[in-house]
Amino acid sequence: MKWTDLRGIGEKRILALRSAGIHQPGDLLDFAPHRWIDRRIVKPIRSIDAQGESTTVVGTVKKVQEVGFGRSKRLEVLLYDQTGIVKGVWFRGIRWVSSLVKEGDLVGFFGEVRRFGGGLSMAHPEIDLLSAPEQVERLQRIVAIYPSGKAFVDAKITSRLLSHWVGQVLDVMGPGLTDPLPLSVRSGLALPTLTDTYRMLHRPETPEEQQQAVERLKFQEFFFFEAAMVRLRSHQRRHRPGLVVASPGELTRRFFRDSLPFELTEGQKNALRDIRGDLASGVQMNRLIQGDVGAGKTVVSIGAMLMAVDEGAQAALMAPTEILAEQHARTLMGYLEPLGVRVRLLKGGQGSKLRQDVLSEIASGRTHIVVGTHAVIQEGVRFHRLGLAVIDEQHRFGVEQRSQILAKGERPHLLVMSATPIPRSLALSLYADLDVSIVRGLPAGRKPVRTAVRQEKHRPEIYGFIRETLQQGGQAYILYPLIEESEALDLKNATDGYEVVKTQFPDVEVGLLHGRMSADEKQAVMERFVAGGIGILVSTTVIEVGVDVPNASLMLIEHAERFGLSQLHQLRGRVGRGERQSYCILLHGYPISNAGRFRLKKMAETQDGFEIAEADLRLRGPGDFLGTKQSGLPEFRYGDIVQDQELLAKAKEAALGLFERDPQLSGAEVQEFRNAFEPYMRQKMTFFES
Ligand code: ADP
Ligand code: MG
Repeated sequence: MKWTDLRGIGEKRILALRSAGIHQPGDLLDFAPHRWIDRRIVKPIRSIDAQGESTTVVGTVKKVQEVGFGRSKRLEVLLYDQTGIVKGVWFRGIRWVSSLVKEGDLVGFFGEVRRFGGGLSMAHPEIDLLSAPEQVERLQRIVAIYPSGKAFVDAKITSRLLSHWVGQVLDVMGPGLTDPLPLSVRSGLALPTLTDTYRMLHRPETPEEQQQAVERLKFQEFFFFEAAMVRLRSHQRRHRPGLVVASPGELTRRFFRDSLPFELTEGQKNALRDIRGDLASGVQMNRLIQGDVGAGKTVVSIGAMLMAVDEGAQAALMAPTEILAEQHARTLMGYLEPLGVRVRLLKGGQGSKLRQDVLSEIASGRTHIVVGTHAVIQEGVRFHRLGLAVIDEQHRFGVEQRSQILAKGERPHLLVMSATPIPRSLALSLYADLDVSIVRGLPAGRKPVRTAVRQEKHRPEIYGFIRETLQQGGQAYILYPLIEESEALDLKNATDGYEVVKTQFPDVEVGLLHGRMSADEKQAVMERFVAGGIGILVSTTVIEVGVDVPNASLMLIEHAERFGLSQLHQLRGRVGRGERQSYCILLHGYPISNAGRFRLKKMAETQDGFEIAEADLRLRGPGDFLGTKQSGLPEFRYGDIVQDQELLAKAKEAALGLFERDPQLSGAEVQEFRNAFEPYMRQKMTFFES
């Protein structure tokens, strides 16, 4: 089809369409309406209940008038039907609206109706011009409304014109469209053909048709994505043999038998069993360990690393912050040096002599386990024989860093750990290139952290409570937010807070921790806190992830309303790690937004990290939550991986089934899919390939 086949098309309009990604007439099919107005149920004005619901009103324009002056200038368009009058009001775009409508026009308004004074009004409703009263038929349909924008407005491309063009394209091209979804997949799920889908998307006869069309388009997107994941994974399966650990060796056995002061939880045992299976399989492990904050993932990773060391290989553990890397180094040294396992810490800012020393030990193989920050993946770090890489708090790292650490060895096994758990089904669908183990439950004897939401006026009581905690031998954190845009200000918050706390608690050692301190200073403060010297640690969020000081039992979070849900949960996870009853106090300022209030309420209600993560995902959307760029996820046009989890899971199942039946995509039935899939794979999945 050519542009000239469309009615009323010219250079200007072609350019405008291009700016919206429509490069040829066929692209219009994928230019989805953003709304459908069901004109079959247009409400008479009198029957509208003005509770702020979005409604369609159709009527004749009675008057178009500008009222007010200066800042309060606005345009009012009065619309009437046989039953009453409603007023559309515009504060912006006055000129454009007044050029659009005139007295006597039949128009539709769509928007929220409110009652003001005696009358009904709608602020900035969407307007839809209905050319003539005899278009009753049109009024009786479901009308697709297309997204607009400046370019469209300038070229006078209205929703109605778009709808007309789409109709033409559907008539000409519709019957000949090939369907990329294989028949077997489609019929299994009773999905409409692509031709029907586009018709139902643009000209649905019922709301169900419109939903069916959108559903099929979502499914199609998910199906391509999942197919790509399956493909990536089978690629790994076939081509990437890894170090074989037939059964856990001497060190591993001694560690679990003699070194651990506690029994493993069932969740830990299960995760370790999964890892053992992977390491014995002869194929490179690629596993995500999810578990709530405090579930004891570190011990699981130590077990995995020892299995590699037992086999004569090295292991690396990478953490996102220096504080966490240092803590891991301390833990590992404590457990492992008695067993003769050599653990070294590698981080930025180490003196060059020390660094050289560590580097040469890693290169010679004298160091068995390297613990570090990003420093581990820098150039110049050479391993003798890296057999296993562990990434802790993986959501802080990108896909890129994952592949960088893998490049340090000859196909090392990979274990990534996350304390921002996402629902299992979602994890399985999203990280199809990873296997997922969940460390369920917390170690025995943990008491839930009691959580309270408080305001400024409660501060004296809160200080009293901190005093009591300290008298009973506990320790406390006081947390201040750190928001990048105003780092200086937040730093001031923390340092001011520190001064106040010092005067409030003159007989207690108070520590301060923030991102501007040198690594050595931070380490010194942390060590004093771990040793119990410091009673109250005032800190910014540098301690957010992973820090483990079991004797600390009170967490006061200042300006708690400014934190995201997952972050609050991480912070709260710093307490409740020992025998003591722990408390988390969420202190909020004013004003507080509804979203902020909701987050605090949610925190007080539940301790379940999976539930919190899901709520956070819903609140922030997957892009923000997972960091779309970082996670390598493509943007979906129709689907939403949270809202449409079920469909995502179905797509995954269907993709797995397809590749099982026909791994080479050689059958006649899948040729259309194959033709569309191969370019998709090249375009969207390059990030994962490395
Ligand atoms: P996370 O899963 O958040 O990384 P950690 O690995 O830091 O949790 O473990 C939290 C704390 O629980 C640590 O102090 C650790 O020693 C302790 N721990 C781990 N496993 C157990 C267990 N099975 N029983 C008792 N305590 C445990
Ligand atoms: Mg951890």
